[in-house]
Amino acid sequence: MNQTRQYPGAQHVVIVGGGTAGWMAAALIARFRTPAQARVTLIESDAIGTIGVGEATVPLIQHLNSVLGLHEPDFVAATQGSFKLGIEFVDWGRVGNRHFHGFGDYGADIDGVAPHHHWLRLRREGLDAPIGAWSMAWAAAGRDRFAPPQAMKGPAAAFKHAYHFDAGLYAQLLRRHAEGKGVQRIEGRIAGVTRDGESGDVTTLVLDGDREVTGDLFVDCSGFASLLLGQALAVPFVDWSHWLPCDRAMAVGSRRAGRLTPFTRATARAAGWQWRIPLQHRTGNGMVYASSQISDDEAAATLLAGLDGEALGDPRPLRFTTGRRARFWERNVIGIGLAAGFMEPLESTSIQLIQTGLARLIELLPSGSADPAIAAEYNRQTIGEYERIRDFLIAHYALSSRDEPLWRQCRAMALPDTLAHKLATWDACARVPLYDLESHQEPSWVAILLGQERVPRGIDATADTADPQVLAKLFADRRALLARAAESMPAHDLFVERTCRALAA
Ligand SMILES: Cc1cc2nc3c(=O)[nH]c(=O)nc-3n(C[C@H](O)[C@H](O)[C@H](O)COP(=O)(O)OP(=O)(O)OC[C@H]3O[C@@H](n4cnc5c(N)ncnc54)[C@H](O)[C@@H]3O)c2cc1C
Repeated sequence: MNQTRQYPGAQHVVIVGGGTAGWMAAALIARFRTPAQARVTLIESDAIGTIGVGEATVPLIQHLNSVLGLHEPDFVAATQGSFKLGIEFVDWGRVGNRHFHGFGDYGADIDGVAPHHHWLRLRREGLDAPIGAWSMAWAAAGRDRFAPPQAMKGPAAAFKHAYHFDAGLYAQLLRRHAEGKGVQRIEGRIAGVTRDGESGDVTTLVLDGDREVTGDLFVDCSGFASLLLGQALAVPFVDWSHWLPCDRAMAVGSRRAGRLTPFTRATARAAGWQWRIPLQHRTGNGMVYASSQISDDEAAATLLAGLDGEALGDPRPLRFTTGRRARFWERNVIGIGLAAGFMEPLESTSIQLIQTGLARLIELLPSGSADPAIAAEYNRQTIGEYERIRDFLIAHYALSSRDEPLWRQCRAMALPDTLAHKLATWDACARVPLYDLESHQEPSWVAILLGQERVPRGIDATADTADPQVLAKLFADRRALLARAAESMPAHDLFVERTCRALAA
């Protein structure tokens, strides 16, 4: 592993790649290191380009924008963006089933017990309303309405929001920011990588024929190519496709039709699922599928048949393998973004993983000397975060009772022990054991578990003895309060029009 390296004066940090990961890295490192600590150079190849997808986010991105000083209305307008309150899942548990994973919870504990136990109690008494009826995010999203939480009061303010945006425009915004902070951009194709004969560290990148860039620390944001981490340092890839068998996607934009929905939609299909992401200038669509189950042509036909507006071109194919690099920080290279690993965009977690990886890097990035313990800690945390998200995604497939071969396969597969324990505990007592480094807290798991009709055998004993009439009134009151609050919000498209309308595309 790494030997201790000394960094006298400014380190030269070289970022390889100018996609969302590369420019996020450049903007954040330049924000949190002075030029005396770190000189930052980013290399990207216009000829190779970026992956050009990645439009849905989670609320954590607000923190990134805030530390970079990006004002929300300006950022949404500049990226043709819209607001996101969660994800609507259609046909996942079974064909005909719909549920919502909202950004927020189902209200405060009642008698010290989480609301979903009480919901389960009422269900036994004949309640016929989804748990989503207790979610403020769904109260607004289901009505296509939006206002930020700070405009609301009390229980109606208990939700979060994220964004849909044009990833190319977001990268441009970050680039302007990073260059303004002194990041140097070099255009060119990296054709060679030189390593130190003794330490094995990467020392120099050779561009096109003759140019050379030397550095102290390299952030590999080269996308699926994983130029430094995967290729130059040969860090093995841990393949998770036996748990998440989808390995391809088709992406296409469509003309906007109907209202601007404040949520992403994920619709399960026979051999995968289809996303719908509303932007101001178009709707982003894609089909994620298992090539073992369906041909590319069939996937494209399914995608096009499921659009709600005219396609703006031909579907663009993408291939991937789900999994992660065995180590994310190896010697003097840190992989971020697709160079580090990939999990399908079902819960919009890739940009989140870029952001948390960078936050961790900045926290651990040494100003004096690099120690192997730092890389080991970075790897421990990042592996944990990846594995917890992996389990959450697998649950979406494993809990489905759909009857096509892909879904039968996922239902029958052996699960990771961590997920199997989670489901067994849920089944027994309606509690979700949370591990270290979980991105998704109990309300998120409850949204998927109950949404996909995994009803536990037991519930909390306090909820079991509560007066059902009192509970039913609490439920009805909360539902009415959320409905009134949501009705007081403007329509999402009106809110966007008034506060952050983009210039013409
Ligand atoms: C189908 C699909 C849908 C997705 N949807 C979402 C979503 O909704 N939400 C979400 O959070 N994430 C999503 N993602 C993930 C998201 O797209 C990525 O995490 C994000 O775009 C970051 O990509 P990147 O910067 O790592 O790689 P890229 O965008 O591929 O950038 C790689 C960069 O490296 C450069 N490069 C590569 N090789 C060389 C070389 N030899 N020399 C010089 N430069 C080089 C390229 O020019 C480019 O600038 C999705 C991914 C896929 C595949």
